[in-house]
Amino acid sequence: MGEKQQKRLQGQVVLITGASSGIGQGIALRMAQDGAKVVINYNSDEDGAQATVEAIEKEGGVALALKADVGNEAQVEQMFKDAKDAYGSIDILVNNAGIQKDASLVDMTLEQWQKVINTNLTGPFLCARAAAREFMAQGIKKEVSRAAGKIIFISSVHDIIPWGGHVNYATSKGGVAMMMKTLAQELAPHQIRVNSISPGAIKTDINKEDWSSPEGKEKMLSQIPYGRIGEPDDIARVASWLASDEADYVTGATLYVDGGMTLYPS
Ligand code: NAD
Repeated sequence: MGEKQQKRLQGQVVLITGASSGIGQGIALRMAQDGAKVVINYNSDEDGAQATVEAIEKEGGVALALKADVGNEAQVEQMFKDAKDAYGSIDILVNNAGIQKDASLVDMTLEQWQKVINTNLTGPFLCARAAAREFMAQGIKKEVSRAAGKIIFISSVHDIIPWGGHVNYATSKGGVAMMMKTLAQELAPHQIRVNSISPGAIKTDINKEDWSSPEGKEKMLSQIPYGRIGEPDDIARVASWLASDEADYVTGATLYVDGGMTLYPS
């Protein structure tokens, strides 16, 4: 008894890509409540980013919005530099930004393919590289964490479930799954933990067309044994735990946070 219990991410700085809406925004709010200072990355949705910063500040948290296209090397480098200048360190990266540009194979344009691969696969590579350089330079700060840094990829159940009509997206997430495992192996000797969360169906803008109609919602629910569509905070609670020392011996893992969607073939 006696000492006030420290929040699980107290004293740590997290950079979350695509945090102006949906899952990224949910992770930002949750990690701020758990004591982290939060860098909210956005590309086009400045209002959403500012609203997220304000929501965090209203609860007494600390946050900052930084604009960068995750697929643009120079912008990513500048973002990490600005984040470091603002908060002095970076301890956690959440590679969350992602898009869909759906079409059947025969109708898919090269632009649709490249845009999704650039945002969903090259973006996480560029951010992981910038974060790892930073974590290695910083080393372990014993007062805040047992690891030198943590990287969490927000992948998808479609990193293992094929998804006809979405070859660009499913391929990008399959690539993310291998990137995570390879980086977990490569970075473990540097005390950097790397893991993925693979969400099932979570109610956000990316799949609004699917859950906003009664038929779409019913179809979604038919694929979820747990019987409800997920909310961003379902992912955020797991992300905050995974980033904390409670998960200090977890690296190279994929957590399917999907209400059981991956238990049956689709
Ligand atoms: P969302 O559309 O609300 O969030 C995606 C965010 O990424 C947006 O804020 C968008 O502005 C941002 N973004 C897009 N391109 C960017 C770029 N080039 N640079 C920086 N930011 C960019 O949807 P969401 O569901 O919250 O998606 C978040 C992640 O979760 C994505 O990687 C998505 O693939 C993954 N995911 C979502 C679901 C789901 O059911 N919602 C399921 C599996 C995986």
